[in-house]
Amino acid sequence: MNIAHYLDHSTRIGPERPALYHGPALHSTYAELQQRVKALAGHFTRQGLAPGERVAIYMKNRPAYLDALIATWYAGLVVVPINAKLHWREVDYILEDSGSRLLISDRTPDTTLASPARLLLLESPDFAPEGQPLSAPLTRASYDAAWIFYTSGTTGQPKGATLSHGNLACMANCYLTNVDHVENDQVLAHFAPLSHGSGIYLIPYLMRGCASLVPASAGFDEAEFIELVNQHRGLAMFLAPTMIRRLVDHLDASQAELNIDHLQAIVYGGGPMYERDLRDALTTFGSRLVQIYGQGESPMTISVMSREAHAPYAEPGEVSADRQALVPVGRPHPQVEVAIQDSEGNPLPDGQEGEICVRGDSVMLGYWNNHEATSEALRGGWLRTGDIGRMAADGTLFLTDRVKDVIISGGTNIYPREVEEVLLQHPAVHEVSVIGAPHPEWGEEVVAFVSLHRPLDPAELDQHCLERMARFKRPRRYEVLEALPKNAYGKIVKTALRQRLARQQEESAP
Ligand code: ATP
Repeated sequence: MNIAHYLDHSTRIGPERPALYHGPALHSTYAELQQRVKALAGHFTRQGLAPGERVAIYMKNRPAYLDALIATWYAGLVVVPINAKLHWREVDYILEDSGSRLLISDRTPDTTLASPARLLLLESPDFAPEGQPLSAPLTRASYDAAWIFYTSGTTGQPKGATLSHGNLACMANCYLTNVDHVENDQVLAHFAPLSHGSGIYLIPYLMRGCASLVPASAGFDEAEFIELVNQHRGLAMFLAPTMIRRLVDHLDASQAELNIDHLQAIVYGGGPMYERDLRDALTTFGSRLVQIYGQGESPMTISVMSREAHAPYAEPGEVSADRQALVPVGRPHPQVEVAIQDSEGNPLPDGQEGEICVRGDSVMLGYWNNHEATSEALRGGWLRTGDIGRMAADGTLFLTDRVKDVIISGGTNIYPREVEEVLLQHPAVHEVSVIGAPHPEWGEEVVAFVSLHRPLDPAELDQHCLERMARFKRPRRYEVLEALPKNAYGKIVKTALRQRLARQQEESAP
């Protein structure tokens, strides 16, 4: 079962159907896309690349990205997507670790790489595929590797979560049954980088014969989002919660016209959705929001908060206090099992906090070439997510925080997410991120990084916290920034904030 088969399936049904838009313009029909994919897959085979070998893609979102992605699968090869914002040195590490033989890119290295991978500049006018086009996708088993997603490496060197064709097919199945019912006239817009887990949302849309849309702007652009929604009916997309916040603010400030009826779905996840931001998003986008929770090791497939489950948040007073303090991440996909376990792997009862564990067909084969990390993450058949959470009696899952972000101050656990929710209730606070900083007496102290709508005395924030949370949880320090640092996927980078504090401490040391 090779997932590239979905391209042939949809092309046979509708060769003239749109397959790819670039910004507002039609780029290719299914027949055209299939022709390019077959030629490129034939080129890979001619170059001696054998099924199971790795091909890295290090490129910004552009139409050729989709050619590279599907052609790699078509030729039975394994895709290694690399975040286009990484430094060449980081790229080199991933190339070497994955043993990639080919690197498809939109730029040439600015340094000598240790990796022997050959470079292919797909869009160069000098490039023309050699050899015979492949007539059909090469046969793969559902357990054969298809996609190696490198974690961002916030805890050591990046690790390659290896997903099989079967894992990706399970993800597509989860999407079509629990996230959205996709009709074949819909369009999936890739506003998030294709190298992110959400890039593989391409698969369910390919299966249904829908078009993909690659925005023309290099980064996420609010004005282009509005233009594209107004232009295309049935537009669906994945966005990070921080991108939704930007859109809401932009639409409020600009009063731009948005044809909301064209918007099929905004699927979001990858980081916390705060209650205040959710209410604002519901006011702007209505019942089009679907939340997903996943991680590279089980991408997009742990739980889903449906449109219906969002509805109470549109009505003040409809949501219980605990679901206001922490917006849940929905219910597990029926295709996977989710359990809350203690550190020994014992299941914990409903309502009790522990580590969120997952098993099912969506869970990775393991980390590429890294047995030690694999046996750490996959224990007793379960994937240990490194996230703390609890399950309510009705099967709703709450994600309290990541284990590594929990602050231990004076021997007591403090969950940054809880403090962040409270700070965001202050009208002057725009963005927030709470971390633990080393403290000689308490082990760690709570520090809040904020960006503000207007200048504010930290004492006012302290008073705000004192009125709403236990004294020991409130931040002891506030650091005001113009904007909080985010990665290419729109996630606030807590490691950058920790490094900032460490630098400050070094500079102030006698
Ligand atoms: P690393 O594992 O190296 O730190 P990362 O955090 O970027 O990298 P990803 O796989 O991109 O790894 O992110 C997965 C994590 O993001 C999850 O484990 C969870 O902590 C968080 N996350 C994902 N979806 C949600 C969601 N809907 N709400 C809150 N947090 C989420």
